[in-house]
Amino acid sequence: MGLIVQKFGGSSVADKERIFNVADIITRKYKEGNDIVVVVSAQGDTTDDLLAQAYDINPDASRREVDMLITAGEQMSVALLAMAIEKLGFPVVSLLGWQAGFTTSSTYGGARIKRLIPDRIRKELDKKNIVVVAGFQGINRYGDLTTLGRGGSDTSAVAIASVMHADLCQIYTDVEGVYTADPRKVPNARKLAEISYDEMLELATLGAQVLNNRSVEMAKKYNIELEVLSSLTRAPGTIVREAVKMEKMLISGVAKDSNVARISVIGVPDKPGLAFTIFSRLSSKDINVDIILQSIGRNGTKDITFTVTMEKLKEALAVLHDLADLIGTSEVVYDEDVAKVSIVGAGMESHPGVAAEMFEALFEAQVNIQMIATSEIKISVLIDEKDADRAVAAIHSKFFSPDEM
Ligand code: ADP
Ligand code: ASP
Ligand code: MG
Repeated sequence: MGLIVQKFGGSSVADKERIFNVADIITRKYKEGNDIVVVVSAQGDTTDDLLAQAYDINPDASRREVDMLITAGEQMSVALLAMAIEKLGFPVVSLLGWQAGFTTSSTYGGARIKRLIPDRIRKELDKKNIVVVAGFQGINRYGDLTTLGRGGSDTSAVAIASVMHADLCQIYTDVEGVYTADPRKVPNARKLAEISYDEMLELATLGAQVLNNRSVEMAKKYNIELEVLSSLTRAPGTIVREAVKMEKMLISGVAKDSNVARISVIGVPDKPGLAFTIFSRLSSKDINVDIILQSIGRNGTKDITFTVTMEKLKEALAVLHDLADLIGTSEVVYDEDVAKVSIVGAGMESHPGVAAEMFEALFEAQVNIQMIATSEIKISVLIDEKDADRAVAAIHSKFFSPDEM
């Protein structure tokens, strides 16, 4: 007996049958005598549909109004799930983010959780209610609704588990756990029994959307063990925790992120201070820059190339436009049809040659590398978007050949 936090993603509550399936999972644990807090996402593609409606009405809709609209997705799913649980004859209450005590920063569309005061959740648990909380949302200091960024319900769940010292935090989704690559794209990807916070954080940040990266960051900070598992099968999932017994694997996974664009500033004067000027101006506008490449100066000029997320492309180009006087006669070019493919693994730190193996796989698949970035536990390459799925498959089979399984 204890406190269990269970999070269900959009596909787990997509229709009536799935809602009752989830209600069954929840009430089983409740019947065993546990306190249950459930976090749910909007049903199926609801968030995407609401966003499409918003931008159809006004492509420049303010982020405040967009959040006002898309928080409705989770409001619907908590109410419907609570109704299903009522129907099964169990005591339940649904709560929106602000009712559950989530206060966030004011950045609409990408707010951070500032505080979580779970008084109301506790009160409802004391009354023996199953508590169903709307994920992905909170309220800012102006009293307005905010959202936590795509995939943010994972973070809502981990926040509740952290603050309430839950005994178990389960993230139910539409695959059976964390795999060595997206199992929908790479059929022979294999499920990991365990993965460390650091590796999971890299994978999530580099495009494996099975967990939101902020949720992993928070789980690591508060040492909350996560169990990622399927709501549709009863198979054991993946445990995310600090120390793991890795099955002697060099790398734990391959990830792809197509949500990137490459920008090059060509012919920048080759003198000190320019990189500083460009990147400090970008950062002051909250534009995160990822892979950076600078060419060696020739004939008094150099090129600076970097990547940003697609959402920030327009803003980044505007910043560079405003800098035209400072950066001289340089030319700015960009490419949206690129993707970042990465490998992650704590094992690579002590094994030279991992990069060479990755590049060999790309060469064999005839995929051209535009940029490379490395850290202790990851290697990323920027390539043509059209080659990305092929690249992931080639790299995956290089590191996880069937005879190694
Ligand atoms: P939910 O709606 O439950 O939050 P998401 O769609 O956000 O689910 O995340 C689950 C999806 O993540 C899977 O359907 C899968 O296609 C994708 N995915 C990408 N990389 C991985 C990976 N390495 N392991 C498992 N799933 C992955
Ligand atoms: N419904 C939100 C989204 O689609 C939050 C989530 O699914 O976690 O991004
Ligand atoms: Mg998700």
